[in-house]
Amino acid sequence: MESVYNWIGNRNHAAESGDFFEKRNPHNNELLWKVYSADVNLVDDAVRSSLEAFYDWSRLTPIERGCYISEMIKVLFAKSEDIISCNSLETGKSRKNSFGEFKAAIQQAKFWEGEGMRLYGQSYTSENSLKFSTSIRVPIGVAALIVPANTALANIAWKLFPALVCGNTVVLKASENAPKLASFFGEIAKEINLPSGVLNILQGEGKTGELLVKHKDTRLISFTGSTEVGKRIAYEASNSLKRVSLELGGKNPFIVCEDANLKDAVDWATLSAFSNAGQRCSAASRIIIADKVYDEFKREFSNRIKSLKLGIDDDCDLGPVITKRHQKNIEHIINQFKNSGANVLSVCEAVIPNIDGNYILPTVIEENGYSDFSDTEFFAPVVVLSRYRTFEEAIALANKSLYGLTAAIHTNDINKAMHFAKEINAGVANVNFGTYGSEPHMPFGGLGISGNGSREPGTEAINVYTELKNISILMSK
Ligand code: NAD
Repeated sequence: MESVYNWIGNRNHAAESGDFFEKRNPHNNELLWKVYSADVNLVDDAVRSSLEAFYDWSRLTPIERGCYISEMIKVLFAKSEDIISCNSLETGKSRKNSFGEFKAAIQQAKFWEGEGMRLYGQSYTSENSLKFSTSIRVPIGVAALIVPANTALANIAWKLFPALVCGNTVVLKASENAPKLASFFGEIAKEINLPSGVLNILQGEGKTGELLVKHKDTRLISFTGSTEVGKRIAYEASNSLKRVSLELGGKNPFIVCEDANLKDAVDWATLSAFSNAGQRCSAASRIIIADKVYDEFKREFSNRIKSLKLGIDDDCDLGPVITKRHQKNIEHIINQFKNSGANVLSVCEAVIPNIDGNYILPTVIEENGYSDFSDTEFFAPVVVLSRYRTFEEAIALANKSLYGLTAAIHTNDINKAMHFAKEINAGVANVNFGTYGSEPHMPFGGLGISGNGSREPGTEAINVYTELKNISILMSK
């Protein structure tokens, strides 16, 4: 069986203890590979290696660092077949969807290869006519990048490229659910002659991430994952005042107004709720529908779901969820809804592939307003429908969650669209499309328990990956 290792100083490493875990294919639970997890010593080796590389790397100009990203793009294309297949195998996505994610990662790289030319500071006026004052952007140090597996390739791209162009050295903690995908970046680093230590990659579960967060020499923690883990990281990192960027979960509302184009609303609601098997931080998980069109929307939405196809082929609409444990948790939540008397609609007529995969049928639950689950992210193909009578009620319902990542409204009334955009508690507000769809140059992040106020990727990521230094010079008279 193939093995996946930690990548430190341009070489594969396994912990002396030989600790490993098994990575399985979510589609059929067949064993894919044996993954060697990092222990405390390997975490220390990786951070030390990145610290040693920092001085030289941070002294290159941002434009020179951008040239390394250009080289990475070439190798990413050369390895695209293997990367796309690996993404499908590890995450249970169709090849078509893996290819889409690959393109998103490339777009991100293309954005950052040139961004070094725009790593601008700012000049300031002074009350002293002889004083010249300006700010420059400086790197922070060793950046620990911790990622999930739902869009593993894009998640790595979002963090790795800005971190490097801004002059930091990186220890990437791979998701335990997409370990080999991360290891491609080690091979790429070697092929483009990225100086040893500029990028190290660690494998392992939460414990490995925790060791990185606690390590005295990691100065920046950029984390994408669940709110629960994000809170723990914020707590641990506060002791040493590290820079922390948290991109966390969502419980995103999708409002359908009575004047909406219902066909479009149904199409976008279906994609927002069920694509990627609902495993998107930006998935629509609460559909809030005007009373007057509730029955019609429910009927059309149910009809649409009826024909959804499960599996990993390109003509499938959704694949499995990432682990057996996650599948069991979601089945338990659906049963809790059933036991509480909620109307759980059996609308999907899809056949679950006849194998031991982590499949969950797209599930629709009817509910009246707020429930115990309004603050629980499912991260699965499960969506709750509720109805509203007035527009104010719709906004109030949408805002009744501790999360505040993304939101969408479907309406043909510009006033409603504008009021929604102004009033909704979300970092991303979309009109007449899905709850997802941010592009590489747009700021993405959430309010409330969806994050800590940082925005990645795009130009805003510079605020995550650099410090601002103010330089003032007093001329002689
Ligand atoms: P998770 O929080 O369980 O794990 C994410 C990563 O953190 C993994 O690499 C994991 O090994 C590591 N980790 C776990 N415990 C840790 C600890 N104590 N210290 C440091 N690292 C630790 O999340 P997941 O299940 O892998 O991913 C799903 C979550 O990610 C969802 O909540 C989803 O909404 C969120 N997500 C957010 C965004 C965003 O941009 N806001 C994007 C994608 C996913």
